[in-house]
Order: sequence, then structure tokens, then C-alpha cells
Amino acid sequence: MFPKIRNTIKKYYHTKILKKKYYRTGSCLKCGACCQNIYVRHCGKVIKTKEEFEEIKKTDNYSFYHHITVIGEDDFGLIFECDWYDKEKKLCKDHKKRPSICKNYPSEEIFSFGAQLQEGCGFDFKPIVSFDEVLARISKKSKIKLR
Ligand code: SF4
Ligand code: SF4
Repeated sequence: MFPKIRNTIKKYYHTKILKKKYYRTGSCLKCGACCQNIYVRHCGKVIKTKEEFEEIKKTDNYSFYHHITVIGEDDFGLIFECDWYDKEKKLCKDHKKRPSICKNYPSEEIFSFGAQLQEGCGFDFKPIVSFDEVLARISKKSKIKLR
């Protein structure tokens, strides 16, 4: 298949079917940074207080919440580390059974609540529709309106 057609199909599939805004590129370097010093979201909101976290643990059996420990907090929310992370071996202690949130990390949703990739992460996100394309679309629309 011609590269241009392949790119158009790929773009359509990601934006219209998967509803994505970014292509995820790269791979995991197994640095373990995303297992430590992390914010955690519950029902779309970053967990902000220890009391809130204790309540979540009482009502939600999702195993991940029972394997993370609060190690700090800042203006954004509580900061956790995962008990399953082996700091010496730099490996997840139960990689095969790791929760779905870890299997899918990093998903582009992390941007939607203001988080970023960990420094040095081997993944990257590239906008599917480039800034130049957006600009071109906007100027095309404004020209049409002016006529
Ligand atoms: S921060 Fe990125 S490179 Fe490091 S372990 Fe997590 S996904 Fe892999
Ligand atoms: S379960 Fe494993 S992969 Fe997930 S945060 Fe914990 S140590 Fe990392």
C-alpha cells in the first residue's frame, strides 16, 4: 500500500475509531519511575487526602489500591509508591498479574488530568493532527466565513 494512503487510514482509525489525539511511540526502558512517586486517580479524580484514600480502600477491592503506599503529597494530590516494585532488582514483583492500569501505561489520558510522562520514560506521545494542520484548517474556515 502507498505510504500516503496507509497514513490516512492509520490517522482515520486512531482519531475516528479509537478517538485518540496522540500516537504513542517508543517502548518501556524498565526504569521503574512509573511505579514510584505517582499520583493516582479514582473515578476520574486525583486522590488528594489520606482520608479519601482510606475511604476508597474500604469500598473498592481493586487490588492496585491495596498495594500502594502514600509517600508524600503536594498541591496536585497524594504521592504514592507501589509495594510490588522491587527497588533492588528494579522489577515488578508480579509483572504477569500487574493491574490493567500498569499494563496500559502510559495512556494518553494522563494528559487529560494534567499529568506528564515520568522523566526519562522511553515512551513519547505525538499529536496525530499536527499544529500546522490545525492552523491550516482554522485559516481555511475563517476564509470561508469571510466570503
Ligand atoms: S517510566 Fe516509562 S520507561 Fe520507565 S518503567 Fe514506566 S513506562 Fe517504562
Ligand atoms: S504493580 Fe508492578 S508495574 Fe504496577 S506500579 Fe506496581 S510495581 Fe509497577
